[in-house]
Amino acid sequence: MMATMADFGTRETPQWCPGCGDFNILTAVRAALAKTGKETHNTVVVSGIGCSGKTPHYIRTYGFESLHGRTLPVATGAKLSNRKLTVLAMGGDGDGYGIGLNHLMHTCRRNMDMTYIVHDNEIYGLTTGQASPTSMKGMKTKSTPHGLIELPIHPLALAITCDATFVARAYTGNIPHLTNIIAEGIQHKGFSLIDVLQVCPSWNRINTPDWFRTRIYDLQKEGHDSSDKTKAYEKALEDINSGYEKVPIGIFYKAQRPTYDDELPQLKDAELVNQDITKVDMSKTLAEFE
Ligand code: SF4
Repeated sequence: MMATMADFGTRETPQWCPGCGDFNILTAVRAALAKTGKETHNTVVVSGIGCSGKTPHYIRTYGFESLHGRTLPVATGAKLSNRKLTVLAMGGDGDGYGIGLNHLMHTCRRNMDMTYIVHDNEIYGLTTGQASPTSMKGMKTKSTPHGLIELPIHPLALAITCDATFVARAYTGNIPHLTNIIAEGIQHKGFSLIDVLQVCPSWNRINTPDWFRTRIYDLQKEGHDSSDKTKAYEKALEDINSGYEKVPIGIFYKAQRPTYDDELPQLKDAELVNQDITKVDMSKTLAEFE
């Protein structure tokens, strides 16, 4: 029997602030797992540190709350150990685009078969409101009382440049669209980056639901061709290039190429967890330590 959305729930009560967009991401992830026919015991959710880091506690699958910025290496380890698992990685914009940014670039180029959902609230929320790598220039925060002087990271443009094969953006204010994007990311064979614009009512008073409402539009409704890499890159920069007048959501770029685990010779015959290690000859290696 296929797992339902309720099957992916746990008895834990989410400890997020009232009105936090993380609630909607949680709902969408559970719905997307059910929609794509995933099983609780064949799925693993890995998180980093931050408000989003608690997410694995609220989804009834295998879960791992890892170190700050190390979501993707841990998720990579899980996938390479058992490539039959469905692997979801989650973290915030600080975790993924600040502390762990180098991991994002390498996971893109490797085309690891997993889905990375970034809770992008454009602020450090858990530490009570410091500027993050995606905070808008000029934003006044606890760490930038005179206004942020750095330009933000462009995660989608970066992922396209690093040859990710599924690059998308969604918004926590539109759960059906968010669910569909996550479901498409899960079904995609290869690395999927889904940047989720997430409201943080406690600490980001600029990018509010009212701010998003007048700016967001759906790329797919405008007939965007997600196989056109040049156009995808252009669209990935449209928010900043339009002075934030237009903020596109949807699938920016999608392509097919072999995944890392497809090409790894050691996994050709069987998943690592199903290989008989008693037949591995370690004598030469051990002799080096004698
Ligand atoms: Fe959500 Fe912001 Fe509260 Fe964190 S600080 S739980 S991101 S509203």
